[in-house]
Amino acid sequence: MAKFIGRREFLKSIGATVAGISLTQVYNPLVAKALAEVVQTAPPVIWFAGGTCGGCSISALNAMAPQIDEILLKMITLHYHINISASSGETLMEHVYKVMEEHKGKYIYIQEGVVSTAAEGRFCVVGEYKGKKIAMAQLAKELAQNAQAVVAVGSCSAFGGIPSAPPNPTGVKPLSEVVDKPVINIPGCPAHPDDVFGTLIYYLKNGLPELDQHNRPKLFFGEEIHQKCFLKPQFDAENMAENFGEQGKCYALLGCLGPKTHCNSWKRGWNSNINWCVKSGSHCIACTEPTFSKTKAGMYAY
Ligand code: SF4
Ligand code: SF4
Repeated sequence: MAKFIGRREFLKSIGATVAGISLTQVYNPLVAKALAEVVQTAPPVIWFAGGTCGGCSISALNAMAPQIDEILLKMITLHYHINISASSGETLMEHVYKVMEEHKGKYIYIQEGVVSTAAEGRFCVVGEYKGKKIAMAQLAKELAQNAQAVVAVGSCSAFGGIPSAPPNPTGVKPLSEVVDKPVINIPGCPAHPDDVFGTLIYYLKNGLPELDQHNRPKLFFGEEIHQKCFLKPQFDAENMAENFGEQGKCYALLGCLGPKTHCNSWKRGWNSNINWCVKSGSHCIACTEPTFSKTKAGMYAY
């Protein structure tokens, strides 16, 4: 005998099935709508990418605590993400504009990558809407204007990162220099998933976290690497490494920028806390600082 299920059960089953098949199916606008109805409190999120290597997305999608499927299916309703949206082209752009309209003042806008501003933004066109090409620079302003919160993920979006290094012919800028709203910066090359989703969850539960002078949440960027580094006693004892990979010695003479850098890698680690930059036998290149790629420091020190 046929078994009838209610609308709510049906929507739940869609969510479960989608999660079971693959997360790549989640971002069809129709399925996203269905999921939003199941998880009614999950805030709408739009994640756009400008000039980026995609590393921050890959990093975020490797979130382990909580796991990315829990975040996507239970905590937020992600309406747009270029790498994992099942839909594409104008259908998806139409959906973005619809979300902006329907959730005015309620959605969270996350930007990954720089915003190209030269030649009226034509170096970075992110889609078409109503027959017109949409530049990231234009869309960023619109997305920010109607958002309840604007978040820059990764050092490119937060501070300009590698693409903003001279001569910068496409005029790339960090998000904060393009939009007219305050931006929460979650830098890192890539940004750490715990910092990204930790900030998001904190914001949703408690409101704006306390920010430092560079608009980074102090919760994650309040401590200096050097003061917490397991090699600090070696620094104090002037036990210095002369080559990368030398274990048990400080990398200060090899250009470690830990003494000027705010980041929590030392306690959070990467890849389920298997390792982090200094522990792997290298130095800190200050990828979370605004100076990354702009001065003779960080990755350009050698
Ligand atoms: S390796 Fe870097 S962060 Fe660690 S103690 Fe030496 S200078 Fe400081
Ligand atoms: S330790 Fe330094 S290089 Fe490594 S993630 Fe933190 S800021 Fe970036």
